[in-house]
Amino acid sequence: MVIAVDFDGTIVEHEYPEIGEERPFATEVLKMLMADRHKLVLWTMRDGKLLDDAVKWCADRGVEFYAVNSDTSPLFPEERDPNLSCKLHADVFIDDRNVGGLPDWPTIYKIISQRKTWKQIMRTELAKEHEEHAIPYPKWMFWKSARKK
Ligand SMILES: [Mg+2]
Repeated sequence: MVIAVDFDGTIVEHEYPEIGEERPFATEVLKMLMADRHKLVLWTMRDGKLLDDAVKWCADRGVEFYAVNSDTSPLFPEERDPNLSCKLHADVFIDDRNVGGLPDWPTIYKIISQRKTWKQIMRTELAKEHEEHAIPYPKWMFWKSARKK
């Protein structure tokens, strides 16, 4: 899968043009996605030195991109058809500007690796939480309902 990933506000907290603190588990999850053989594309508004800084920041943490602000890798250049739209070809976009906000990184990993929607993941998590916090059926309720019959 080709996964386009934004930088500011997504991998790191939004401190542009500075580089903010890493968002919890961002690079860990990106490395797991690399290990799962997904192609990561850095898709950011950064350019020039600020872009180089972001790419280096990620590389220092073991995150390597297949391509940067492009569909194709500089390692495997392909002629891009000039008649194609400028929209990036990606299967998934991870961006803090998502409608509904950005899930936390462990949830992003679950969504991609389990090929589920955020809604499906949340429904499962809520069901588990409900089960964990469910009050056991007290005996007196059994006797109370039995008496009514
Ligand atoms: Mg952003």
